[in-house]
Formats: sequence, C-alpha cells, structure tokens
Amino acid sequence: MLRRTKIVATLGPATSSPEAIERLILAGADVMRLNFSHGEASDHADRARLVRELSAKHGRHVALLGDLQGPKIRIARFADKKVTLKKGQIFTLDSGLDKDAGTVERVGIDYEALVNDSRPGDILLLDDGRLELEVQSVEGDQVITRVVIGGELSNNKGINRKGGGLSAKALTDKDKEDIKLAAEIGVDYVAVSFPRDASDMHEARALLEATGSTAGLVAKIERAETVADDEILDDVIRASEVVMVARGDLAVEIGDATLVGVQKHIIARARALNKIVITATQMMESMINSPMPTRAEVSDVANAVMDYTDAVMLSAETAAGDYPTEAVEAMARIIIGAELHPITHKSKHRIYEEFQQIDEAIALSAMYAANHLQGVKAIICMSETGLTPRLMSRIRSPLPIYAMSRRADTQFRVALYRGVQTIPFYADQLPPEEINQRAVDELIQREAVKDGDRVIITKGDYLNAQGGTNTMKIITVGQKVS
Ligand code: PGA
Ligand code: MN
Repeated sequence: MLRRTKIVATLGPATSSPEAIERLILAGADVMRLNFSHGEASDHADRARLVRELSAKHGRHVALLGDLQGPKIRIARFADKKVTLKKGQIFTLDSGLDKDAGTVERVGIDYEALVNDSRPGDILLLDDGRLELEVQSVEGDQVITRVVIGGELSNNKGINRKGGGLSAKALTDKDKEDIKLAAEIGVDYVAVSFPRDASDMHEARALLEATGSTAGLVAKIERAETVADDEILDDVIRASEVVMVARGDLAVEIGDATLVGVQKHIIARARALNKIVITATQMMESMINSPMPTRAEVSDVANAVMDYTDAVMLSAETAAGDYPTEAVEAMARIIIGAELHPITHKSKHRIYEEFQQIDEAIALSAMYAANHLQGVKAIICMSETGLTPRLMSRIRSPLPIYAMSRRADTQFRVALYRGVQTIPFYADQLPPEEINQRAVDELIQREAVKDGDRVIITKGDYLNAQGGTNTMKIITVGQKVS
C-alpha cells in the first residue's frame, strides 16, 4: 500500500555518510531536515548535495528543509562542563559573568534581555524542561532563582519561560546569514524558529525572496503566545506555506498536559487554511538507543496520522541516534497501519463553505468525486506551482494524488504533502490532444492503475500558468482518452 503521510528525517553526525543517507532514502524519508542549530555551513552543504545525488539515483524526489536556529535562549558554559543542581538551592543566571566561568552557584547567559524579561515568581525551564527554576529577584545583571527541580546541567542548555513571553525577536543575525546559506544550498523549505506572530514570517519571506529562492516557509509553532490567541495563530499560518507543531519547545512553554489538544488544534487550523502541517519532536525518542519504539511512541505517531498531519518528523533519532534507518522504517510501518483506519478516508472538509476560486472548486470537486465514485484509483493533477495538489490533499482520502509538473521546484515541494506523489511531466512539450493519454501512461508504467480503473484528471487551459486549473475529466484506463 502506498504510504500517504510523509516522513521528515533530520540529518546530523549519525547520518552524514553517503551510505547512511542512502539508507534513509531507501527506508522512505521524504524530506531531509538540515538543522542550522548545529554544525558548520559546509556540513549542511555536503549533506544536501548527497541527498540530491542519492535521491536522483533512486528516482526519488526527496525535499530539503533548512531549519533556522532562531532565538533559542541558552545558558553559557561551566568551568567543569557540568554541575548538579539541588532542589531548594539558589542558582543565579548572571549576564555579567564570563561565558566559561559557570559554577554550581551561577552561570552566564547568552541573552542579556532575560534580565529585563524576568519577574519574581516566573518559572524558567532548562534543558527542555528537565530542570525548573523559580525567579526570586532580579538584581542588576543577575536573575536570582531557587531550584524547584534539580539535576545535572551541562553547557549551553536551552532556557524557556513557562507561559512564554520572552521578548527575543525571531530572526537573529545568524538566521539572516543562514537564510542566504539555505538559498545557496537550494533548499525547498526554510523553517523559522520561534515566530511570535505573522510579522516575523513576513520578515523572513522578504529576506528569502531577496535571495531569489522560491523555497516555501515553515512556521515552527513553539511559543506559548502564538497558540494563546487563535487570531495570532491563524495569521502565522496564513503567512506561511507550512506549520510545524514544534512540540519540544512548545510543550515546555505551555505544559505537556495541554499539548495534545493544542497539536490537534494546530493541525486542524492549518488544514482549514489550506496549509501543510508537520508534527515534530520526540516521536520515536527511545529509538535513539533502541531498535524498537515503545508502545506510547507507536501510539503517538499513529494518532498524529489520524489527526491528519501531512508529515511526522524525526530529530535526534536520525541525526544522532544509533538506529536512524530503523527509526524511519518503524515510522513508515506505523503510518501505513494507521492509514488503514476509516477515519483517515472520509472527509467533510469545507463541505458547507463557499469557494472563491475556480481552481479551488475544481480541486475539491475532484476529490469528492474520487472519494464517492466507484472504481477511481488515482487522481492526476497537472500543476505548475503545486497549489492544486495542495488544495486537494487537504481532503481526507485513501486515493493517491499524482502531481505532474514540469517545474523542478514543484516536483520537490510536493514531497511534504500528504497523499501526493510527484511525477515530472512536460506537458508543454506534447501536442495538446496527447497530454491526457501520456499522463495516464505514466501511471500504467508505474503499475499504479490498470485497464478498467477510473482516473480523475485536472488541468488548466493554459498549462503553464499558475492558478489556471479549470477542467476535470474522468476517464477509464484502456478506453480511448482525448
Ligand atoms: P528544534 O524545534 O528541534 O529546532 O528545537 C522543534 C521543537 O522545538 O519541537
Ligand atoms: Mn524548537
């Protein structure tokens, strides 16, 4: 069975060699994430080149996603690399302290504004929430805290504030440089970390467009204030092509108890607004050191699939784990199992809504026809920019959508869309009366359809124009197609 939900795999030290990357591709990774929080520019460029070469070798279109570090606030370093904090002790975050001089009593910080942003009573969470500090007072350069939950704390660990509200801007100087790097590498997507609202996405878009890149923008939803207000969330989604439920930081800021509900809400809003959504972080965490997922992890991935996410993501599991290939294989297996459930096949998506655009009406009509007419086995969507397959794939369906485009950027971009398979197709080089038959031939060749199957084709009168889809045709394979 064709898998519909896509897999994003993060590359890192465990997956830098050609062999390791090839194994991820063969295991089914659809998108590779380059995490600009770690590593040198040349590491990312090398991995990207390998992904392009090796996916071409296997006839695959694996997309590249460059993930900006963003204003992740971190402690500086300890003289002895790490300390152990005890419950009840005083621990000071000191922006005046030498960056390498941390002790069990105090440590430097790389974000000076933390001093202005902190108030007595605030809860600061360190190392993805493993340690908890309560602010007692703010004096000069120092935030004085009492340890609520102690433990080991090592160099450069992240700091979040419970409830969010730290004032750091989304795009740092490093991010601005990395946008240029991402454009040079030729990534298909750029992810913005910690956007507060749509204005951060607009700023990233302006910088990205200035490079000439046509990459899509991913908004990582990981601040409490972005999900506290539906209007802010919707505006961030509208300003992006993709959103990521960035559960690592988000869970720390909003608390794990509300995270699952918020995940479902973000996925539903993204789909309602015709955008793509990735569910990320700790999906297969135990597979960093184990060849098998836990029951809870299986359940987590399957539930995200049933929430109708477009993609699920692996982070340290593939970047730094002992079983990167196994993690992708396990994810693929769990997805296919979850997609058998009828909840993923039926849709009332926008059934009571009015549509404004012709392409939108065709996209949704085609999917309703495909889901309701007996014998339909595939949808062919001839598309310039990938917009029509994106609109189509917002509707739940068990049927594959084949995006046929002549544009390379579109061929890669749709790798993230649930249920969409890419087929390079150069309709502009064919006599108009042959186009439909040749498109169906592509599916016959791939053994995706056979004689007697029905196929739905959508296209525009002006094949190479964006937003021009205005035709839908239902054909039977084996009968003459015009
Ligand atoms: P990160 O983002 O892995 O870059 O922190 C994802 C998350 O926070 O979940
Ligand atoms: Mn994050």
